[in-house]
Amino acid sequence: MALRLSDIVDEALLSARALKDYGDHFFNPTVRLGVTGLSRAGKTVFITALIRGLTRGGRFPVFEPFASGRIARARLEPQPDDAVPRFDYENHVRTLVEQRRWPDSTVDVSELRLVIDYQRPNGADRTLTLDIVDYPGEWLLDLPLLHKTYAEWSRESLGLSRQRPRARLAEPWHADLATLHAQEPADEQAALSAARLFTEYLRACRDERFAMSLLPPGRFLMPGNLAGSPALTFAPLDLPDDGAAPEGSLWAMMVRRYEAYKDVVIRPFFRDHFSRLDRQVVLVDALAAFNAGPEALVDLEAALAGILDCLRIGRSTLLSSLFRPRIDRILFAATKADHLHHSSHDRLEAVLRRTVSRAVARAADTGADIDVVALSAVRATREAQVQHGRDRLPSILGTPAPGERADGEAFDGLTEVATFPGDLPDDPEPLFAGNGAFHGLSSAPAQGTDFRFLRFRPPPLESGEAEGPALPHIRLDRALQFLIGDKLQ
Ligand code: GDP
Repeated sequence: MALRLSDIVDEALLSARALKDYGDHFFNPTVRLGVTGLSRAGKTVFITALIRGLTRGGRFPVFEPFASGRIARARLEPQPDDAVPRFDYENHVRTLVEQRRWPDSTVDVSELRLVIDYQRPNGADRTLTLDIVDYPGEWLLDLPLLHKTYAEWSRESLGLSRQRPRARLAEPWHADLATLHAQEPADEQAALSAARLFTEYLRACRDERFAMSLLPPGRFLMPGNLAGSPALTFAPLDLPDDGAAPEGSLWAMMVRRYEAYKDVVIRPFFRDHFSRLDRQVVLVDALAAFNAGPEALVDLEAALAGILDCLRIGRSTLLSSLFRPRIDRILFAATKADHLHHSSHDRLEAVLRRTVSRAVARAADTGADIDVVALSAVRATREAQVQHGRDRLPSILGTPAPGERADGEAFDGLTEVATFPGDLPDDPEPLFAGNGAFHGLSSAPAQGTDFRFLRFRPPPLESGEAEGPALPHIRLDRALQFLIGDKLQ
């Protein structure tokens, strides 16, 4: 269902800001790049690696302005939006490079400004300002709630929670729900425990064994600075098919809080961040979804369709009322491709392409360019052929993070292991069908060990200092070429 802009936010306010942005951009070309993806998709690592590569000379053969030497310099400048936290780049790099640990993940919106001095192909010197906006994908998935009433959302959430594999995870919450009556007087304690159990259910669905993606309201899992506030203290109720909420009832209380959630959380996010983006990269941990099985993939497909619908809303309606089109390029990127042998990278891309295909077809009329890539922003593994009996198997080598366990063995963070990541199928279709053709990546045949969820440490660098060389990656340059290559012409 299409959303009107007026459903979302005050158009006059948006237009005034668009005019200011337009003026600023005219004198100082600026691209606002949104980086999103569900929790743990790889946003923090992606942004850190991208900035590190651009400022410290990464190996980017496919990023033409860089490879051809037209980029003279890329430097960080103070973050322009006073009310938005700055992306903690320096700390993240230190953690990655000096400690060989992964940085803390995104839990809130943050921003960073990168200024790129470059030469146009005709020799003229120019500057491009790249504002990178990092925000949780869970928040984006909230936008469709704007056109749903509490009753609709409640019914949908309950319906979903009765399907496999969610039903089992929802048992404690459903047990509590059965004791609640929507028409009874409002009770803060009842609302609190319902919200807590509902949130625990959402969290259980997100667990890597189930890897569900469609879990709104997004702030329940990613509260940012709103943890514990009343706007986050509501939950679905079993409602009668018709009728209105009696005054003073639990039902009325839930309706009020649900509406407050839209006002306090969703609309400001749309107005302050989302509506101002020019380009968007959506990072997807597709491997986690394969590993969890077909239900997770189908759920991911629905979540990505939801995300694309939101992006379409952002572009097409703003296009008609404002000065310049917004989001005109969207990249879907499957992250952590270094968990696979390179022979499977194209297949990973094919699965992601299949996952977004229906949504992309629906978005075709927006005129936005959409692309798909499998990448690893920081490549934590190497490849090798490992002798297994008479066979030589294509393997990946990496150092499991300290405390990671496989086959009863706990790794110390110092030992490198070879794993056989298994092949993705050429045809992605059976993955979605759930016909048993494929359930997760095959585990290491030699040890019978399940390495699927092993987290590898970031790679060692020759110079372990934060000022040292750029980080190894897979296809990060392709992503850059698509996202900003044309802006550097
Ligand atoms: P965010 O929640 O989207 O900000 O996710 P992060 O960027 O914090 O990434 C979550 C986790 O995924 C990290 O702690 C790493 O364990 C893993 N990860 C992210 N990117 C990569 C990558 O390129 N390669 C590997 N091997 N692991 C990655």
